[in-house]
Amino acid sequence: MNRTAAFERSARVAGLRASGRVSEALAALNAALDDHGDEPAVLRESLRLALLVGEPELALGVHGRLLALGGADALRGLEAALARLRLELPGREVESPPRGSGKKRAAWLEQDDGNALAPAELTEIRASSPGGGIRYEIRAGCPWCEAPQRLSVRMSLLLDRDWLCPSCFGRIALRYEGVRDFLRRRHPLLVSDGAYDWNEAFLGLLRDLGTPREENGGQHETPSLCRELNQQYVFFLSQALTRRLYGSES
Ligand SMILES: [Zn+2]
Repeated sequence: MNRTAAFERSARVAGLRASGRVSEALAALNAALDDHGDEPAVLRESLRLALLVGEPELALGVHGRLLALGGADALRGLEAALARLRLELPGREVESPPRGSGKKRAAWLEQDDGNALAPAELTEIRASSPGGGIRYEIRAGCPWCEAPQRLSVRMSLLLDRDWLCPSCFGRIALRYEGVRDFLRRRHPLLVSDGAYDWNEAFLGLLRDLGTPREENGGQHETPSLCRELNQQYVFFLSQALTRRLYGSES
């Protein structure tokens, strides 16, 4: 019974991790560790999350704990994570799970140096303005395994980030050039050098943001209209800056 409960808790952590909700996964893991700190399924999630948050020494310690509990068998399913751990801590001893677990090798492991970095495949950039600032939520796909990635960034899209895919542990990069190319494709009016129709761009943004302009039979209530205009203003100002930053580059 205890083991079943531990397995269910670790499956919940794994689901949050795989959908890119790493901080929620960490909170769920902490709670699971309190009740099931010696269960291999929970410890395997602990190893994966330690790697994702940049704590390879901690991951190595969990790897030792798993070996002590169940030998190499306890490492089943961790092929990609352990391959990543070896690259993070060269020269340290990292055991392998028994062969023949039937899982396909992670795509990034097929690269020559085993440590390749590939650009994120952007699918969506949304803006919001909680508390008056601006926050972008960026959705992308892993270039190695297509797992969904979520990033939340404040203020600026001048990005230069690397991270590990929470599903396959491949390395993913997001550079401002990638964001610029995405904006050029998806919002050409906002980043073009040519004639610029602010009104059309603004209406396009309202459409893209799914703003309900016809709510209440076409009449907005004043508070919600003010809030909306404020959000649109912040968003639009930011996009105008983005255009200056990205649009002037050839
Ligand atoms: Zn991946």
